[in-house]
Amino acid sequence: MSHNVDLLQVLPGAVIITQEGKICFANAAAVALLQAGSAADLVGRQSGEFVHPMDQVRSTNRIQQVAEPDQEGRPNKSSEFRIRTAKGQLRMVLISSVAIEWQGAPAVLMCGLDMTHQSEIQAQLRESEQNFRRLFENMQDVYYRTDSQGVVLHVGPGVRRVLGYEPHEIEGRTAESYYPQSSDRDAFKAAIMEKGEVSDFPGQMVRRDGSIIDISISSHLLYDHAGNFAGVEGIYRDVTQRKNLERELHRLATTDMLTGMANRRAFLETATAIYERARTHAEPLTLLMLDLDHFKAINDRLGHLEGDRALVEFAHAVRAHLRTSDIVGRLGGEEFGVLLPLTSATEAAEVATRILQGVADLQLQDETGHPYHITASLGMGAIRATDRSLRDMLDRADQALYLAKNRGRNQIASAEHEVG
Ligand code: GH3
Ligand code: MG
Ligand code: MG
Repeated sequence: MSHNVDLLQVLPGAVIITQEGKICFANAAAVALLQAGSAADLVGRQSGEFVHPMDQVRSTNRIQQVAEPDQEGRPNKSSEFRIRTAKGQLRMVLISSVAIEWQGAPAVLMCGLDMTHQSEIQAQLRESEQNFRRLFENMQDVYYRTDSQGVVLHVGPGVRRVLGYEPHEIEGRTAESYYPQSSDRDAFKAAIMEKGEVSDFPGQMVRRDGSIIDISISSHLLYDHAGNFAGVEGIYRDVTQRKNLERELHRLATTDMLTGMANRRAFLETATAIYERARTHAEPLTLLMLDLDHFKAINDRLGHLEGDRALVEFAHAVRAHLRTSDIVGRLGGEEFGVLLPLTSATEAAEVATRILQGVADLQLQDETGHPYHITASLGMGAIRATDRSLRDMLDRADQALYLAKNRGRNQIASAEHEVG
């Protein structure tokens, strides 16, 4: 037996032998595990003293079981117990016990492995997994992964909020189904195939309820171990609110607040683009410049507020005679520009006549209910092959307007040909 005792002493695992619950042997590893001064400090004490109260019933049951005759000296399956050391520290110990005979009497040998460190790692793993799940579940973005055919293999729970579908309803289908415009999807595909990744790529998607949302995608290509294209992985997010805000900011920056027309800058920007197009394709294009007659007098007589109202009515009257492809803008105080694409000077003169008539026909009333009328003067200029830029056409229309004013107002003057 002394050989066995030597062997037990040097085992790396903690070994304790108890008889009727009392410790009668503890090896060096057990002394260290239980933070006792020496084996002598342990001998004679109840092994149960070192078991955490929550684990004591289970511990006692197992020790009794192992001593049952039908156990036939087989050790029980190892199980984790919380152990309180002599110094009061808590440790997680994996313990297996077996019934033996010790110095001629029945005894239980318990072998313990300190798992404290391992269980910490497990707890950390569990926690990091929980953190990851929480993040994944609550992520505002939708994570997705497709195979090389574009079939969605996995989609995150964010898709419930963003598209209104359950993840399993999306998985197994191609992403194409959710694009209102296939051109969006094609542009995304082309970009990611060319660069291998895209970030903040714009697009739109259709929600389950049919509404269309703006999205932004950041994704990269996936490859298998052989280096072959295997699919796409990334996230997309709903940026509708941001886009709406951008659209609203753009509207505010390009719209004249009083009349709702394009402001000067926006008008000139659009007009420049249309001008370039017309020049490239040698298409007809005519510009009208309008200025209200004696508007200072309206303000002076009826007040600035009434003047504003007149401007709004004037803007309505002008627009009433325009097509959706025509461009109209407020160039300054009571000066307006109208650009008529694909319209010759002759055709434009008819539009101009109708506009001035419409303005003169306006039945306006001041605050006191008194009726009053307004008129405007109009200058016309058409595109010319010799023009260097839109500026030249603007200048001609401006000079024509000046002419219309000089000739007595409420009339049209053209830089192209005389209008009666
Ligand atoms: P003309 O026939 O020569 O054009 O005479 P006019 O009095 O209209 O002269 P002009 O075009 O030089 O003056 C424009 C006036 O329009 C000056 C300003 O008081 C007024 N005006 C400009 N912007 C606004 C505006 O937003 N609201 C109001 N109520 N008046 C404006
Ligand atoms: Mg004026
Ligand atoms: Mg003016």
